[in-house]
Amino acid sequence: MKTQAYQTKIADLFAHYHVSASGLSKEEAARRLEASGPNALPAAKVDSYLKIFARQFASPLIYVLIAAGVIVLLMGEYIDASAVFIVLLFNAVVGAFQEGKAQNTLLALNKFTTTEATVIRSGRELIIPSEEVVLGDIVLLRDGDKVPADVRLFETTNLRINESALTGESTPVLKNEETLAGDDLPPAEQVNLAFKGTLIIAGTGRGLVVGTGLETAVGRISAKLGSLEADVPLKANIKAISRVIIIGVVFINLFLFVVGLLYGNSFIDMFKTVVAVSVALIPEGLPVVITLVLAAGVWRMGKRQALVKRLQAVEALGQAKVIAVDKTGTITKNELMVQSLFTNGQSFDITGDGYSPDGEIRLAGQVLDPPAHPELVLAGRIATFCASAHVAYSPETELWQVAGDPTEAALLVFGQKTGFHREALVAENPSVGEIPFTSDLKYHSTLHRLADGRHFFTQVGAPEIIINRAKYIFRDGERHKITASDKKDLHQQMKAMSARGLRVLAFGYHDEAGPTLTEDDLPELTLVGLFGMSDVIRQEAKEALHRARAAGIKVVMITGDHADTARAIAAEVGLFRPGDEIITGADLETWDDATLDQKLSQTSVFARVTPEHKLRIIDAYRRRKEIIAMTGDGVNDALSLVAADLGVAMGRVGTEVAKEAADIILLDDNFGSIVSAVEEGRNIYQTIKKVVLYLFSTSIAEVLVIIGAILLGWPLPLAASQIIWLNVITDSFLVVALAVDPKDGTLLAKPFVKPNRWFFDSLMIVRTVVMTTVMTVGSLLAFWYYLPDALVPTAGQLAYASTIVLSVLVFYQWMNIWNCRSEDRSIFKMKIWENKYLLFAAILVIGLQLAAIYLPPFQTFLRTVPLSIFDWLLVILISLSIIIVEEIRKLFARKLNT
Ligand code: ADP
Ligand code: MG
Repeated sequence: MKTQAYQTKIADLFAHYHVSASGLSKEEAARRLEASGPNALPAAKVDSYLKIFARQFASPLIYVLIAAGVIVLLMGEYIDASAVFIVLLFNAVVGAFQEGKAQNTLLALNKFTTTEATVIRSGRELIIPSEEVVLGDIVLLRDGDKVPADVRLFETTNLRINESALTGESTPVLKNEETLAGDDLPPAEQVNLAFKGTLIIAGTGRGLVVGTGLETAVGRISAKLGSLEADVPLKANIKAISRVIIIGVVFINLFLFVVGLLYGNSFIDMFKTVVAVSVALIPEGLPVVITLVLAAGVWRMGKRQALVKRLQAVEALGQAKVIAVDKTGTITKNELMVQSLFTNGQSFDITGDGYSPDGEIRLAGQVLDPPAHPELVLAGRIATFCASAHVAYSPETELWQVAGDPTEAALLVFGQKTGFHREALVAENPSVGEIPFTSDLKYHSTLHRLADGRHFFTQVGAPEIIINRAKYIFRDGERHKITASDKKDLHQQMKAMSARGLRVLAFGYHDEAGPTLTEDDLPELTLVGLFGMSDVIRQEAKEALHRARAAGIKVVMITGDHADTARAIAAEVGLFRPGDEIITGADLETWDDATLDQKLSQTSVFARVTPEHKLRIIDAYRRRKEIIAMTGDGVNDALSLVAADLGVAMGRVGTEVAKEAADIILLDDNFGSIVSAVEEGRNIYQTIKKVVLYLFSTSIAEVLVIIGAILLGWPLPLAASQIIWLNVITDSFLVVALAVDPKDGTLLAKPFVKPNRWFFDSLMIVRTVVMTTVMTVGSLLAFWYYLPDALVPTAGQLAYASTIVLSVLVFYQWMNIWNCRSEDRSIFKMKIWENKYLLFAAILVIGLQLAAIYLPPFQTFLRTVPLSIFDWLLVILISLSIIIVEEIRKLFARKLNT
């Protein structure tokens, strides 16, 4: 049998893939990519239109209608039965079309996310889209990344990988580079391989790509992978509404049936009416319309840089009360540069631009030559050792690109300005131990073997930790015992840097350390100095903050940085205002819930907090019943991203681990995009409310017209087929057009009231009552006007009056739909062409109604007769009442609001 990659010696693999330690050449990689195709898995399986079509019938609402149609058929009423079935078919076709569109929309969202991989080609590190990784590429793996392909490891440092995507097992697996024996090991035991799609939780590694695309462990099982998420939120609401509707339909029909018989209508007529009323009352298109509204909203969120990964999040989005954002990366750009250095009792300034290696070190305006200053050499050396990030120049974008922690990238660049190059330095002094930075430890340490056999220990981290640990301080080229006054001095310097908004790190070393490095047994430390890193404030943050405030959303900042740094930056963007409070990680550790709850409302900044503290913050807001959106980017943020009502990951700086855990990904890392998403979320609710209001007011009015006529002792005003016709007109074109109504600009101007389960609030109830009353009274008046005095009208007289009622109701509907567009704005103030679909739908409906009256086949089917000009004038006059009454109501509503 063929030997597997895990059994093969790494040197043999290099030979097999014709690659050297400096990686493939650009040309060779391009050739291989051409031959193998992109390193991607097929897109999630989508349902066929046939399947979606079949699904349209799977709803209790539809079952009721099918049963009704079958009974009418058995009664031998072929025309009416076929009307019911035509409606059902029509609904399924329209539904399938809309749902298919929704599915495609959601699928297209996937294109917004790309993952990147760091590879070595022609001896240089390159960051490329992971689709372009080819067999034989050397890839670098780092915590937080997603493994881009199947990779045979040849170098690992504490590399731990969560392989649950592949094996279902969520405990991270510790990887190593030893060649394994044994045939047919399951992937879980191939610990010298890293598999495509799995997530790196800790550590770093290097490896050779031995499988890409479908030829990977996950590719081989991708046929078994789940299809696109079909779980639509608001499902519970739809269910609740459906239940109410079905109960309502049963009661109304019983009532209609009994009363209709008592008033002398025939059994057959009443039964057909009851079936028709069911068709009218049941909004069989509602579930699909809601799906469409959702998909369209989610698509717009994506266009506004907020990618919704879990549709459930939409529900919480509209209601978000608190947005907790990370300082670094969200309020600031997370483009760090060491700007200030305090060492040897002196403050140095460092010039330069971002991550470009050009820049000088100055003391009181004088440019210095670093090699001539031992403390600068030491600072550069320590910074370079501790900088496990990568900075690469991308000729395409003409930008310096960072992979890894920007703080460490800044250290790397500082090192370059003092003349150090990491590759060369580490080659000379190989790494023998490392404690990577975590927000809990708040430091990063490394251990290196020097040429003379001694071990060099470095530590860079939060000042309070480093200063506290230090036994010595480096001054004038040698180490001295650190004194209380030294520490006081350092604290003062730290305060001064923090107050300028700089991120402060202290650093030190020990050059006679032992050969191993563990957290519990750190070598003693000689403190060298402090770095002050500047970060650039994101100008968009200020604007986003204003928009959030106007919308009634509170923004709080979370950071691991010192309270002074946090305050300076928060005040600069306007997030921290006089009277606000800062809660620190230490407070969170010591306070009980009651104290925390009491402070929470004045707090706008949480400083020196670890990712674990975020959970406590989430809980505190939960107790206040405030929906909280929380941003995160690191591996350690995964827990809080899952715990928050809305976990929001950063698309650019965020690790793949954080993105996996989040509900929403901010493609531009700008928290203003969350606010935009909130607006879209609110719009989804608003639109659904419009649709529900329209559908309910129309169906209720239709039923009331029939009940009213029966109670008045009149004949049935609408034939069964006419009721069904009305339903076709209202439920399809007009509603779909209303569902894509553009949002009005006021969604963020006022706080949002959470809609209840049925979407009905008191205003909607008032409007439903007003609308149904107008439509019922108007239609009955028209019927009465056209009914002859004769007690039993002839069929012709009845058809004439019914045609009038039908036309009045159709006209009411296309007029009322314009009313439904806004709760308080006059329809004359809204641009009529703003919603072109609605305009088109209204014209279509008028045309269809004309056809219904003047075309012979429709006349037979719908029992209609032609109307005169005078009749039409009357129809229009009566139906205009719905606009007049709603305009008056809106006028009062506006008066009351001001
Ligand atoms: P933030 O929320 O601002 O990203 P962190 O928890 O990452 O905060 O950092 C907290 C503190 O730890 C920083 O103020 C800095 O002093 C120190 N620090 C941050 N990153 C590193 C790093 N990569 N290496 C060493 N120290 C670091
Ligand atoms: Mg950080």
